[in-house]
Formats: sequence, structure tokens, C-alpha cells
Amino acid sequence: MRIHAILNYFGKCPDCGYPAEASAVERHLIDGTVCVEIVASCGLPCGWSGSAPLTTMTVR
Ligand SMILES: [Zn+2]
Repeated sequence: MRIHAILNYFGKCPDCGYPAEASAVERHLIDGTVCVEIVASCGLPCGWSGSAPLTTMTVR
């Protein structure tokens, strides 16, 4: 499992509206498939975090 920071993620926290940060969690499945899950969290300590749609950014 590898985690990449997403530098060009422009999503916002749904709770407080502050720009959120996101990282891509890359999972290598047993059959060779790579599954990428985007996990976003608020840039402020309001405690929000959640999954984000992959379509709003480019994974680098
Ligand atoms: Zn927030």
C-alpha cells in the first residue's frame, strides 16, 4: 500500500468550507489490480475527513 499526497486537489471541507487536503491510497490487490482510493481531510482541525471523487483531480 502506498500513499501519495495530491497537490492539486481543490475540494473543500463540507463542514466548514476551508480547502481540504487529499491523498491517494494505492492498494495492490492480489490479482494484480491497482485500486486507488482518495481520502480527503480538512485543512483546519474541524475533524472532517472522508472519501473524495477521483474526477476532480489528477493523481501524481
Ligand atoms: Zn473543516
